[in-house]
Amino acid sequence: MTRHFDTRTVDRLELAHAPMIDSFGRQISYVRISVTDRCDLRCRYCMAEQMTFMPRRDLLNFEEIVALADILIARGVRRIRLTGGEPLVRRNVMNLVEQLGSRIGAGLDEVTLTTNGTQLANHAKRLFAAGVRRINVSLDSLDPQSFAHITRRGRLDQVLNGIEAAAAAGLAIKINMMALAGVNDDEIGGMLAWCVARGFDLTLIETMPLGEVEDHRPERYLSLRDVLADLQQRWTLIPSLYRSGGPARYFDLVDSGTRLGLITPMSRSFCDGCNRIRIAATGTVYGCLGHEQKVELRDVLRQGGPKAVDTALNELLAGKPQRHSFDLAQPATARHMNVTGG
Ligand code: SAM
Ligand code: SF4
Repeated sequence: MTRHFDTRTVDRLELAHAPMIDSFGRQISYVRISVTDRCDLRCRYCMAEQMTFMPRRDLLNFEEIVALADILIARGVRRIRLTGGEPLVRRNVMNLVEQLGSRIGAGLDEVTLTTNGTQLANHAKRLFAAGVRRINVSLDSLDPQSFAHITRRGRLDQVLNGIEAAAAAGLAIKINMMALAGVNDDEIGGMLAWCVARGFDLTLIETMPLGEVEDHRPERYLSLRDVLADLQQRWTLIPSLYRSGGPARYFDLVDSGTRLGLITPMSRSFCDGCNRIRIAATGTVYGCLGHEQKVELRDVLRQGGPKAVDTALNELLAGKPQRHSFDLAQPATARHMNVTGG
């Protein structure tokens, strides 16, 4: 049976409230919560054409996600990012966003979201009202055909409408673009110009070998070192001290409000500064995107309550891997990116 917890329960149980520090001295202040592994798109670098998703009955309910969030906040987590799969396809997800949003200023600094944008037009205003102030929207192409090819079933106009609605609602927007050799490498400069014109930030991402997909990843890999060198021919980019809490390093584009971020899991490791753990929709918590190391929190929460969760988190921290080590020719994990999100 599901037990009922809230922040007060966590306080009453007098948890140590000890910060979460792993065996390499890294403090965890950031959690990504995948609310579903399902998605209305099938991006070629993320998913296989035929995917088997988790049974809905195995997912944490919203009350359990909030209970976990409260425990994590009590242990020093300041930022929560909801992700997926596509977080906005989970039914009534806005109820969860609102509950988490009510923790902002009461231990939590921010709630953010990574989305493919297809459902944004319906949710933008409510996201802002819930306290969300910035979102990441994945957009790999501004060409309708190329977008449809990459996502296998996406409609570009639907996503662009969603982005427009989000900007109109007051949400700061960062576009996430996967850099893919032979697919969208010729569009990166154009995407940057598009973001500059709209006051959006842009983060470029190198593809990671997570789960089996039909695409041959080594062929698709594009080093962001090379992309950066190319962009520097056309733009003045100043290295920025800004940190979003995630793994990107940033550059300010002179004469614009745009920041360019680079996420370089392949060409330049960012593991030394890792401050995060990832919770899958079933309550499995992963210490690292590139490893299978995990603890299962759902049954621990249901049967043991917050104190047992606290102990399981300590176990996760003790075993959190030092770094990922990817070989593009073979998946580092059986699970795809939609299980743990980004
Ligand atoms: N569906 C939402 C979206 O697309 O923004 C959220 C989940 S998606 C898994 C989060 C991010 O992970 C997206 O920006 C996507 O481009 C990125 N991603 C997916 N598969 C990846 C892979 N194999 N390597 C690197 N990034 C990946
Ligand atoms: Fe869905 Fe996001 Fe994966 Fe694309 S990257 S298939 S939108 S979860």
